[in-house]
Amino acid sequence: MADIIQLLPDHVANQIAAGEVVQRPASVVKELLENAIDAGATEIKLIVKDAGKTLIQVVDNGKGMSDTDARLCFERHATSKIKTAEDLFLLHTKGFRGEALASIAAIAHVELNTRQASDEVGTQIKIEGSKVVAQEVVVTPEGTSLLVKNLFFNIPARRNFLKSDAVELRHVIDEFQRVALAHPTIGFDFYHNGGELFRLPSSNNRQRIVHVFGGKTNEKLVPVEEPTEVVKIAGFVGKPEFAKKSRGEQFFFVNDRFIKSPYLHHAIMSAYEGLLKDGTQPSYYLFLDVDPATIDINIHPTKTEIKFDDEHTLYAILRSAVKHSLGQFNVAPILDFDSDPNLHTPYDYKDKKLDMPGIEVDAGFNPFKEEKSSSSQVRVKSNNFGSGNNSFRRNTSASWESLYVGLKDDDTFESKANHSEPDSFASIQFESEEVTGKLFEDDAVERPAAATYQLQKKYLVTTIKSGMVIIDQSRAHQRVLYEKFLKDITINEGVSQQLIFPLELHFSVTEIALIQTLKERLEGTGFAFESIEGDKVTITGIPLNVTESEVSIILEQLVSDFGEDIPDSGFTQTDMLAKTLCKTLAVRSGESLTVAEQEALVNNLFACTESAVSPFNRPTFITMTVEDIDKKFM
Ligand code: ADP
Ligand code: MG
Repeated sequence: MADIIQLLPDHVANQIAAGEVVQRPASVVKELLENAIDAGATEIKLIVKDAGKTLIQVVDNGKGMSDTDARLCFERHATSKIKTAEDLFLLHTKGFRGEALASIAAIAHVELNTRQASDEVGTQIKIEGSKVVAQEVVVTPEGTSLLVKNLFFNIPARRNFLKSDAVELRHVIDEFQRVALAHPTIGFDFYHNGGELFRLPSSNNRQRIVHVFGGKTNEKLVPVEEPTEVVKIAGFVGKPEFAKKSRGEQFFFVNDRFIKSPYLHHAIMSAYEGLLKDGTQPSYYLFLDVDPATIDINIHPTKTEIKFDDEHTLYAILRSAVKHSLGQFNVAPILDFDSDPNLHTPYDYKDKKLDMPGIEVDAGFNPFKEEKSSSSQVRVKSNNFGSGNNSFRRNTSASWESLYVGLKDDDTFESKANHSEPDSFASIQFESEEVTGKLFEDDAVERPAAATYQLQKKYLVTTIKSGMVIIDQSRAHQRVLYEKFLKDITINEGVSQQLIFPLELHFSVTEIALIQTLKERLEGTGFAFESIEGDKVTITGIPLNVTESEVSIILEQLVSDFGEDIPDSGFTQTDMLAKTLCKTLAVRSGESLTVAEQEALVNNLFACTESAVSPFNRPTFITMTVEDIDKKFM
C-alpha cells in the first residue's frame, strides 16, 4: 500500500494552531498587547473597530524589529524570548511559544510597521492568510504597530461563530483590563469605533485599579501585603460590604500575568468567611510574585492557567494574608450597618416588636401588671409554637392576629393587642364569621370588594367562588411588574417622570458598555438618559413606578444579571431586563400592604396573561376549594 502520511503545509498548520490561540478578537488583543509589553513599551495604544471583528491595532513605543526579524516573526515557533527548554523555567516575558503572530497572520489581513531606535527607516510587511503580499521600507515611528483586519476572513464558520459586538467588546475589554492592571507603570489608551474607552496614564497599582474601575473604587479597597520567602503577595481586596452579586472584579496576577485559579479563589473566599452576605462575591486584585522556576506556565495555550509547585502553601499564605488585612483594617463591623432587613424572616420581626412593649410598658406602674405580662407571655409562646398544637385555643387566636398585620399600623396593632385583649378578640370573632360566611356562598357572583387579608406579611388571602386563594405577595407582584415592563419595552410606552436634578451614577467601563447596549430598552420603560459615557451615567428621567433611590439598585442588578454574556436576541434582552426590573422592584415578604394595595395586587395579578406563575416559574398562588377544606375537617 502506498504511504499516506504527509507533512501539512505551513499555512494549514498555522490555521490549526490559530484555532487554539485565537478564539475571538479578544485573543488577538491579548497577544498583541503582551508582545508590546515584552518589547519594553512604556506607552501602548489599542484601536478597535466593531469589537475587533473589523480592525484591531496595537501601537507601541517598544524596541521594534530589524527587517529580518520583521519577516521572521510571522513564522511558526519563531521567538526571541527563549532559546532552550530550560529557559521555560526562567521566564520573565509574557510570550515564549512563538506562535501568536503566525496564527494571527494565518486567519486575518495583517500589516506590520516597525522600526528600531538605531535605524533611520523601518519595515512594512503585509500578510494575508499566511501569504506575504508586500514588504517595503517605510518611514515610521520608533516601535511597532500591528494592524489586524478582517479576522477569520478565510474561515467563515469561525467568523459566523462570533457573538454580537456587545459580547465580543466585553471580552476585549476584559483582556485589556487584565493586561492594564498587571502593568500599571505602562500608559494605555483604548479607542473603540473612534471613541476613547480608557485613558490610563502610567501610575501605581492602586491608581490603576481606580482608573480602570472608576473613582468610587478607591474607598472600597483594603491593601494586602505579605512578603514571604515563597511568595510575595501585594494588592487589594474589597471591603465585604461592597461585595456584589456578580463575580466581576476578581483578579490574580502571578508574575504580572493574569491567571485563573479556582483553588486560590477558594482561599480568598475562605478568608472572607462570615463577612459576606449570602450569594455575594468580594472584589480582589492580588499580585503574587514567585520564583519562575516554581511554576509551569506552559500547560495551556492561552497561558491563563498555571501549575504551582506548592499550591498548598500558597493557599495557606494567601488565606491568612487576606484575613489579616480584613481584620487589621477592621472592616468586619461595618457589615452590620448594611444588613438587609429582607434577610430577616417576618417571624423574627414579630418577636422583637412584641417583646418591647411587653417589658417596657408593663413593668412600670400599671396596676394590671400581672394580667398584662401574662397576656404577653401567651403571645410570645403562641408565636414560638405557632405551628405546634399544644393549645388549640391560643393557636387559633395567634394565627388570626397575624391576619391583622397589614390591616393596621404595626404599632397600633401591637399596643392595642397588648393592652386590650378582649377588644381585639371581639373583632377577630367578627372577621371569622364574615370569612366563614363567604366560604359557604357557593353561588356568590363577582364581589369586587372581596376582603383580602395579609398573612405574616407574606401571603394575601382572599376568597373566590369555590373557596379561597392564597397568594404569594412577592411573586404575584413580580408577575404583574414583569408583564407591564415587557409591554412597556416592546411598544415603548413606559411613562417617565422627570428628575429635578439629574442623577449621576458611576460604573466601570465594562458596565457602562452594557448599560449602553440596553439603553433603548431602558428608555422603553421610562428611563431618560442625558449621557452614558466614560464611567458615568447621567439620568434625567425614571419610570413612573420607580423611586430615585431604587435607580442605582436597578442598574447594579442589571449589570449583575447580564454578567458575562449579553444575549444576542432582542427578545431575550427584553425578557432579561423585565425580569431584573420586576425582581428589584416587587414587594418582598415582610412588607406590610394596605388593604387598597392588597386589592390592587390581587386584581392586577388575575388580569395578567400568565397569572399562575412568577416570571421565574414559581407558583404565584394556591387555591383551596371548600371541598379541600371540608376534607381537612373529616
Ligand atoms: P512570542 O511572543 O511567543 O515570542 P509571537 O508570535 O507573539 O511569539 O512573536 C514572535 C516574535 O516577534 C517575538 O518573540 C518578538 O521577538 C517579535 N515581536 C512581536 N511583537 C513585537 C513587538 N510589538 N515589538 C517588538 N518585537 C515584537
Ligand atoms: Mg507573543
